[in-house]
Amino acid sequence: MTVSYAHEPFTNFQEETNKQSFQEALAYVNSQLGKHYPLIINGEAIETDKKIISVNPADKKEVIGSVSAAGKELAEKAMQAALQAFQTWKKVRPEHRANVLFKAAAIIRRRKHEFSAYLVKEAGKPWKEADADTAEAIDFLEYYARQMLKLKDGSPVKSRDGEYNQYHYKPLGVGIVISPFNFPLAIMAGTAAAAIVTGNTILLKPADAAPVVAAKFVEVMKEAGLPDGVLQFIPGDGGEIGDYLVEHPKTRFVSFTGSRAVGCRIYERAAKVQPGQKWLKRVIAEMGGKDTVLVDRDADLDLAASSIVYSAFGFSGQKCSAGSRAVIHQDVYDEVVEKAVALTKSLTVGSPEDFDTYMGPVIHEASYNKVMRYIEIGKTEGKLLTGGEGDDSKGYFIQPTIFADVDENARLMQEEIFGPVVAISKARDFDHMLEIANNTDYGLTGALLSKTRAHIERAREDFHVGNLYFNRGCTGAIVGYQPFGGFNMSGTDSKAGGPDYLILHMQAKTTSEAY
Ligand code: NAP
Repeated sequence: MTVSYAHEPFTNFQEETNKQSFQEALAYVNSQLGKHYPLIINGEAIETDKKIISVNPADKKEVIGSVSAAGKELAEKAMQAALQAFQTWKKVRPEHRANVLFKAAAIIRRRKHEFSAYLVKEAGKPWKEADADTAEAIDFLEYYARQMLKLKDGSPVKSRDGEYNQYHYKPLGVGIVISPFNFPLAIMAGTAAAAIVTGNTILLKPADAAPVVAAKFVEVMKEAGLPDGVLQFIPGDGGEIGDYLVEHPKTRFVSFTGSRAVGCRIYERAAKVQPGQKWLKRVIAEMGGKDTVLVDRDADLDLAASSIVYSAFGFSGQKCSAGSRAVIHQDVYDEVVEKAVALTKSLTVGSPEDFDTYMGPVIHEASYNKVMRYIEIGKTEGKLLTGGEGDDSKGYFIQPTIFADVDENARLMQEEIFGPVVAISKARDFDHMLEIANNTDYGLTGALLSKTRAHIERAREDFHVGNLYFNRGCTGAIVGYQPFGGFNMSGTDSKAGGPDYLILHMQAKTTSEAY
């Protein structure tokens, strides 16, 4: 085993001083609410008439801030700026590019609680979830900077007498980076940083639901020394500028994280070669999941229940890795379900600003309505054991909800809900558990709780997911420790935070000189 480096530690909120600094950060962010953030194209701040208003999902009357929204014309201006900046940025030494990321990480680390406080306010993340999102952003920046230093001289190839061969990685060109709402700092910053440190220039389109924290990140990159034109910040309607830029003949690659529907749309549209286009676009698409926690008959049943509950309800079930289904061996089914229900009933739901809140709201009205519709479907497909209620009078709150005795092929067991709802099925034996685990279109994460070595090894081979965990929950991948990405309709398995990730943003060039 090699020990490489420690990841950014999570804040210990049991320490009073940490708790106090977080409260101060929240107070500071509360004093900053309502500010406006422009587009940034070639370093120039641009205001538009059209604005995206970011609201607090826990208190929909509270405006977090607003950002200007780009239409097609400004998207084109951003593309031209990125094309021009690529000519110089691609020549900047990799060490220099990496240093920008190291510096950005240091700035965010210094303002860690401030960034987390924005995540509390804008994304409805409870303290611990917000803290983990910020830590992951720092990790991505530093990990990709280190990876670039490893890759800067290429990979070794053989030379022979009278012939010198080299193998180097070259940047691709202009990339479109499109990020989701659920890790509005970590995934947004990570996907942007990977594309930039490899020598590309980008157009960054954050999710509509959480653009302010992205604007703050863009400020940090400038402070860290990123030259104008390398990163254009262009919030805007995904359908409008997303389609335009994905189809643009000068787009060299798209780095997308989000839903299956949008990912498939991007994949299809990017594949079509447009007039004037000189390459095949590369698409990195990390999409949805329907992730399963399996409980074997000899599992530690308390650990099994807590793994089901925390995987299902962390950040209100709005993680692509969320364990939105559990499959339990029939011999321990009743006991585990009972323990999971008891634990779920102890979870606190409320304002994420309160330290004691375990679960905040879901992100917005559309999401609230979608989850509540699935709860109605669940009532026809299984036994509602706890939760099932929502309250959108102030924010978009939904009780953590468990449905038991759900058929393995029911909609609740097959479709990504992206809310605090878990469906539980009973399995006859281990083979049946594995069969159910693999019966969706997705393949992102999974967990097996078992003490049987043969079952663990069998799952290692046959549980078809990109990230598989044993004797723990299925969320919480750490950069550099558990590279992240899924199989099947969960996407292109790009493995963010892993050793193969940066290479996806480059192309290898072989040179051979005859002496
Ligand atoms: P989403 O609705 O697909 O949106 C993701 C991004 O795509 C947003 O910035 C969105 O912009 C943009 N978009 C919308 N239509 C587009 C189009 N036609 N062309 C280009 N871009 C377009 O996803 P979300 O609700 O933000 O995020 C939740 C989803 O992400 C879940 O399915 C979750 O599983 C997945 N996810 C996957 C991973 C992973 O690593 N596999 C990680 C995190 C999340 P607007 O905001 O303007 O619509």
